[in-house]
Amino acid sequence: MAPSTTIPTSHGVRAEAVLVSGASFAGLATAYWLNRLGYRVTVVETASGLRRGGTPVDIEDETVDILARMGLADAVRAKALPHRRFEFKDADDVTLGSIGADGDAGGDRPSHERHEIHRDDLLDILSGALADDVELLFGRSIARLEEGADNVSVTFNDGERRDYALVFGCDGNRSNTRKLLFGDGEQFTYFMGGYFFLKVVPGTRLLPANVTETFSVAGRMAMLNGYHDRTDIGFGFRTPAEIDYDYRDRAQQRRLLQERFEGLGWKVPAMLAAAAGDDDFYFDRINQIRMPCWSRGRVVLVGDAGYCVSPLAGFGGSMAIIGAGRLAAALERFPGDHVGAFRHYEDGLRPFVEEVQERAAVHGMSMMCPADEAELAERDRKIALGDIGF
Ligand SMILES: Cc1cc2nc3c(=O)[nH]c(=O)nc-3n(C[C@H](O)[C@H](O)[C@H](O)COP(=O)(O)OP(=O)(O)OC[C@H]3O[C@@H](n4cnc5c(N)ncnc54)[C@H](O)[C@@H]3O)c2cc1C
Repeated sequence: MAPSTTIPTSHGVRAEAVLVSGASFAGLATAYWLNRLGYRVTVVETASGLRRGGTPVDIEDETVDILARMGLADAVRAKALPHRRFEFKDADDVTLGSIGADGDAGGDRPSHERHEIHRDDLLDILSGALADDVELLFGRSIARLEEGADNVSVTFNDGERRDYALVFGCDGNRSNTRKLLFGDGEQFTYFMGGYFFLKVVPGTRLLPANVTETFSVAGRMAMLNGYHDRTDIGFGFRTPAEIDYDYRDRAQQRRLLQERFEGLGWKVPAMLAAAAGDDDFYFDRINQIRMPCWSRGRVVLVGDAGYCVSPLAGFGGSMAIIGAGRLAAALERFPGDHVGAFRHYEDGLRPFVEEVQERAAVHGMSMMCPADEAELAERDRKIALGDIGF
């Protein structure tokens, strides 16, 4: 028989059992808040540990406030990366234009608090903040969700069945929870016409620390982030339609990359060589998730699962933390009323999500990975004029 959704706490109050799917920014932050609100929290993560790697995360404005309320702002400040300069390069490695001089975060509000932090450091900070009584199960995922009158019956991939009062889908762009809940073929995916590869390697001599360099030709973009101890190697390319590939087949993805970038100049040959090797890299289509509603019954989506803003926004990690913080505030405001809480969460956050998505869709792709010669020329003209805010 499945365990009850509530158990008595030490205060005699019955704590409701809730389930979080996914242990990245959205999942860890959601689990933190739910535990603090008094729920009995289980997190399932399909990977065998926290999934590491990827580009640094920008932390500013509301994200700083939420991390401060979690007691984590100082930990983030301690791991913040030095401000970096962003340079657009041509094939001869000449700088066409740059943003963010030394000591300047590149924004128009010099005094506002803004940090960049390695993705792995933020994962460690968030997972370290989880209370001991949060149950974290790796190598597990939800196989089936059935909603009853006052709980959700969950069957896991190993066949175990448990009942939960609420379920939180924090399982990313290709969310399993979203598929189970809404039967998502692909109807919520807004494909932005390209793919992005990112691998973190030990420091290379390809560029100095605290600098980002990008080089674009029509339809393709190569990017390097330099740090004192490592280098991010990034590639983006355009496709008119989605490529038919298995997103679990890493060898196929490496081949795809090699085919697309072979023969390109600048530092690309050295970058391809440095990125070869193991399967520890990020490769995904550049897309957004646009849904008419982020919840159904007792199940709600947080972060990329419900409203991925795309890597071009440079805001996915922050949006996940903001989503978790807003949802927690809504649950606190509507005790015992998940319908009201989920509505409040969505009504409050949706305009901001749509604004960020719109910005990324309009400016991101044409600036980072122009589609053709005309778009590239227009982008270079803007760079020459210093009109490179995006
Ligand atoms: C390894 C990795 C590298 C990334 N690198 C970049 C990058 O370089 N640039 C960029 O812009 N964005 C990158 N992203 C995406 C970025 O992290 C997200 O946009 C942002 O963090 C939003 O966070 P999220 O928690 O909503 O989703 P994600 O960070 O994508 O986390 C989703 C989590 O759910 C887990 N999960 C997936 N399916 C299941 C399932 N069936 N059951 C249980 N758990 C599941 C995943 O393993 C993952 O831990 C990366 C994501 C990952 C996982």
